[in-house]
Amino acid sequence: MSEAVNQSSLAPVAAALVQALGQDCVLLDDDVTNRAAGIWRSDNIQARILVRPRCTEDVSKALAVCHAHNQPVVAHGGLTGLVESAITGPGDVVISLERMNAIESIQPLERTAIVQAGVVLQTLQEAVEEQGLIFPLDLGARGSCTLGGNISTNAGGNRVIRYGMTRDMVLGLEAVLADGTVVSSMNRMLKNNAGYDLKQLFIGSEGTLGIVTRAVLRCREQPGTQPTALVGVQGFEQLMQFLKAADAGLRGCLSAFEVMWNNYYRLVTTAPAKNTPPLAQDYPYYVLVEAMGAEPDTLQAMLAAALDDGLLADAVLAQSEAQRQQIWALRDDVEQAFRVGPIFLFDVSLRIPLMPDYVATVNSNLEERFGTCENFTLGHMGDGNLHFAICVGDGSEEARRGVEQCVYTPLQALSGSVSAEHGVGLEKKPYLQIARQPEEVALMQTLKQALDPKGILNPGKIFDLQ
Ligand code: ZN
Repeated sequence: MSEAVNQSSLAPVAAALVQALGQDCVLLDDDVTNRAAGIWRSDNIQARILVRPRCTEDVSKALAVCHAHNQPVVAHGGLTGLVESAITGPGDVVISLERMNAIESIQPLERTAIVQAGVVLQTLQEAVEEQGLIFPLDLGARGSCTLGGNISTNAGGNRVIRYGMTRDMVLGLEAVLADGTVVSSMNRMLKNNAGYDLKQLFIGSEGTLGIVTRAVLRCREQPGTQPTALVGVQGFEQLMQFLKAADAGLRGCLSAFEVMWNNYYRLVTTAPAKNTPPLAQDYPYYVLVEAMGAEPDTLQAMLAAALDDGLLADAVLAQSEAQRQQIWALRDDVEQAFRVGPIFLFDVSLRIPLMPDYVATVNSNLEERFGTCENFTLGHMGDGNLHFAICVGDGSEEARRGVEQCVYTPLQALSGSVSAEHGVGLEKKPYLQIARQPEEVALMQTLKQALDPKGILNPGKIFDLQ
């Protein structure tokens, strides 16, 4: 479709949106295409119309207009997603929640917060901290990602083993359906079994069933302490036994169990990386263990017992906040992989006992296909979630497809998932059937058709409709 055709077919939609919402809410052409398509991306938004609603009613009006015009719509939050879930084409309308960024209220006694979808995660974290609480969701993009995006993608992150994913922190939400209907399900109780739990339709469905505009979020008491250690482990069997020993020994306080394979640890502790190795560089595995709410002595005693039992080869306990941050900085320094060459990032899920054979299979698949390669491996192992930063090939689309086949194909026989926490978007759409049964995909399509019969909400993401 030529640009001229696009512009003329979009003109009535633009006019109707301006009429419904006012000029101030509708950006057009260069004001839209000058914006970056994502914070990790170098290209720009392709859509020609971007709506900036001030409230749920504005979102409702915008969707009613788009619905009447059979106009595809893509919702935008902080654009920190990793699977092309918010990518637009020239014929799309963007609804950006950027102006709906109010924390409406925090209730310390009820330990809840009511927010608009455009609130940045870190802004909420800091606001509830002032009230003596925490909002436990935490991920690298905290300073840019928005709660509406976290909800729409069911974001995971570093503390899932203790507090669950975003889904576990949402008590209620408000969403606007494709035709503009507002479903206000702003439940504020922990318990509500009155029929279907409708909020789950909108959590993790990547904006394909409705646009989340507000939410009631569950906060927690501040744990007060955050002792953190780094350990070296000689084998995967010991690693699994150590996970169980750590969870049992910390008596419910285990809040992170982040594993780094040897090649990743070497990468982030060798110059020009800025960090130095707190432990020798020759152990096959390293684990960052964090125990929010435990006394440092409890963590130390657990580590001493694990050393005695031969589960650990070495361990270092952070003695200060600076040392604690230093250990986390190793785990978070994934960008070191980009200095090696073109990188493909992966987020997969599988049962923990299956991990060593799976990683070996992926690596032999990669070697067979590409010759030499480097697969920097790390992950939220306690959650069954591995991340790969694979440096191979020339970074081309063809290389990407080849690497994806090496990584995803073996998951089918293991009943694993092509997405642990990043979602599907466009990037993983070709591989959805590896992680889901045909009946599951068919039920997803049934829900999509029921809620969005015209198929205007984030069309083409996750799966196609026939
Ligand atoms: Zn992750």
